[in-house]
Amino acid sequence: MKKPNCPIIAIEEHYWDPELTRHYTGIEAPRGADVDKKLYDLGSLRLQEMDAAGIDVQVISHGAPSTQKLPADIAVKLAREVNDRLAAACAANPRRFAAFGVLPTANPEAAADELERCVTKHGFKGAMIHGMANGEFVDLPKYWPIYARAEKLDVPIYFHPSLPDPRVTEVYYQDYAKDFPLVVRPAWGFTVETATQAIRLILSGAFEKYPNLKIILGHLGETLPFLMWRIDAALRRPGQKPLSFRDIFSKNFYLTTSGFFSNPALLCCVMEMGVDHLLFAVDWPFVPDNRPAVEWMNGVPLSDEDKAKILSGNARRLLRL
Ligand code: ZN
Repeated sequence: MKKPNCPIIAIEEHYWDPELTRHYTGIEAPRGADVDKKLYDLGSLRLQEMDAAGIDVQVISHGAPSTQKLPADIAVKLAREVNDRLAAACAANPRRFAAFGVLPTANPEAAADELERCVTKHGFKGAMIHGMANGEFVDLPKYWPIYARAEKLDVPIYFHPSLPDPRVTEVYYQDYAKDFPLVVRPAWGFTVETATQAIRLILSGAFEKYPNLKIILGHLGETLPFLMWRIDAALRRPGQKPLSFRDIFSKNFYLTTSGFFSNPALLCCVMEMGVDHLLFAVDWPFVPDNRPAVEWMNGVPLSDEDKAKILSGNARRLLRL
């Protein structure tokens, strides 16, 4: 395969912790045993597949829904244990693995403390939140302690998709969910859920309070770069609170290529956000092979300098790798 001539850091790469997935019930799409095997591996299989594609570093995160659907009495303790186990896996391969932690969002103060513990004790690069927290969007002020702490620690929070709220699935997708289960998931449902979360966080005023908060979105920004002009223009019409959607989105948000290897979509992101806000990711092993993603990046119509920024330079700076 053709590999770009620069280090490669992939930042939305998943695994499953068996003590956490034990709590999942009926919320996961069917997937092959092969993907499961990769998800539960934090060693040789993962490294083999990274090597086959020339990926130097994976920033590893749990898969959806992570700890976002657990009550506080379970989530707080379990999140610590899950993060400690991931830290041990990273310590075994410190040159190849880094991590985003899980947060017990059911108790936002504890989630903020856990973020700080992960970063200061384990050297984690930030944390990932998967979809709504027990039926609530996480822009509500009760969740702001997490953003205050992320800003203080200067680490990003990654908003990752999860299954839409059951009320949304019922109204929007139920008619087609049986024949097309993925329409509820990456084909559309994930996108709507995650883009809505990002828009809501901007509307909430969190970025006025925490102007240096950094949020990462996967999947080339969950459609938002394509819609930037329209959202920004609409929110400037009379009758709205003053707000520059464009200023906040292009300053405080970073986007990754996870599961979305399209030249037109990437170029739209570069044009709206600037190349410094784009980072490489595969979404392995939900995207079951790293190689097509790396081959795609090798051939994107950007300069070698810009490709190197996306492939590792921006991650080094944003995550201090
Ligand atoms: Zn993912």
